[in-house]
Amino acid sequence: MTTAILELTSTSTATVTQAYAYAFDPTPEQVNLLRSHIGGSRFAYNALLGLVKTNWDENRVRKDAGEEVPKEEYLGTGHFDLLYLWAKHRDELAPWWGENGSSTYNDATQRLSRALTNWKKGTAKFPTFKKRQPGGSVRFTNTAVRLTDSHHVRVSRVGELKTYESTRKLYRHLERGSGRIVAATITERKGAWTIAFSVQVQRVVPATRPPERIIGIDVGLSTLYTGATPDGNHVLDVKNPHHLVTAEKRLAHAQRVASRRQGPRKGVAPSNRWKLAHVRVQKVHAGVANSCRNLIHETTTLLAKNYDLIVVEDLNVKVMMKNHSLAKHIADASWGEFTRQLEYKTKWYGSSLVKAGRFYPSSKTCSQCQTVKAKLSLELRTYHCEACGLTLDRDLNAAVNLARQGLAGTNSVTGRGGEVRPSQQTLAGEAHPDEASTETPPEVGA
Ligand SMILES: [Zn+2]
Repeated sequence: MTTAILELTSTSTATVTQAYAYAFDPTPEQVNLLRSHIGGSRFAYNALLGLVKTNWDENRVRKDAGEEVPKEEYLGTGHFDLLYLWAKHRDELAPWWGENGSSTYNDATQRLSRALTNWKKGTAKFPTFKKRQPGGSVRFTNTAVRLTDSHHVRVSRVGELKTYESTRKLYRHLERGSGRIVAATITERKGAWTIAFSVQVQRVVPATRPPERIIGIDVGLSTLYTGATPDGNHVLDVKNPHHLVTAEKRLAHAQRVASRRQGPRKGVAPSNRWKLAHVRVQKVHAGVANSCRNLIHETTTLLAKNYDLIVVEDLNVKVMMKNHSLAKHIADASWGEFTRQLEYKTKWYGSSLVKAGRFYPSSKTCSQCQTVKAKLSLELRTYHCEACGLTLDRDLNAAVNLARQGLAGTNSVTGRGGEVRPSQQTLAGEAHPDEASTETPPEVGA
């Protein structure tokens, strides 16, 4: 018991890696330079993979012929082995290599080293050659990127990039010295450019609080988040904001304009008028994403600060719903983002997050008598129980059920010996696909 109490009162400092991503608008010259970096990285990756493969194949033939091949004659797959290999061969393989910054080849060797390591560990197939295709990404080392102000990023060899959104939050972290850029990845996808900074931030992490204040959250379309306590109190009600509806009209208009103009196709350059229309679409998108993100941040911070245990449903089922409106699109994106933010904010503020199992029927179960309906149409906004006569808002009913799942879960966990750390587990279900992946994605946050 003593150790448990100690654990609950102590705090610690942790370095967390957060991602800050921004859309930006490169000039035509910058597009050429960035594409050269992306292409250079792909070239180096393929060239090095070719060298390693040939070396290994040759060694295998020698071995099969009965020859003893010393270990030193195998090309190494560490990051520095590959960097050395590149330095040795770059002049003959890529006489143009000096046109790109050193990040290009650092990126290629890191990616290839990781791919080969994963193959050796048996977690991935043997790496294949990367095909030349539109788009792609390249990672710049921390020495190659610098924020000049809250709207400009200087990338060595590329120049000053102008971001759509303000980078103020990241800029302040860097100014104060509370954050350090580890690297920045620039990606081109369907003509849109983003820069994602991976930033190490120092944080004081409090110990996990005992689960006294419990809330269950149901996520939906018209009401984004409905929250309830295990005793049935409706304590959170976040509506889908109205500005998203007006943004939907603006976006539809911008997309219609763009679709009438000459866009990028194989072998055909997009018209200047299309580029203008495309920038407009991008800006509306960025605006919507931004205001949506702010709302999610507000909600998740409030929850992580004011509750000890937060229960959400595993959202995969909802994501599979077929509906192509923007509201749905935003909801899809924001549900994932909501859980992701809760995952790290609960750690920051000493609360816990529990995901109810994927097959737990939170919407179909009656929160009063626990009878489970076989079917519940999506259009029905009110839950009516034939067994006990309960009539309740559908989302609220689901939220109460989730809160009770949390209560039941903590009772069984605390019953086992006072160690309350439910944030790592999934109630009555298998691991979330995000947790199953080998590479943890960086957290996006305030
Ligand atoms: Zn009932």
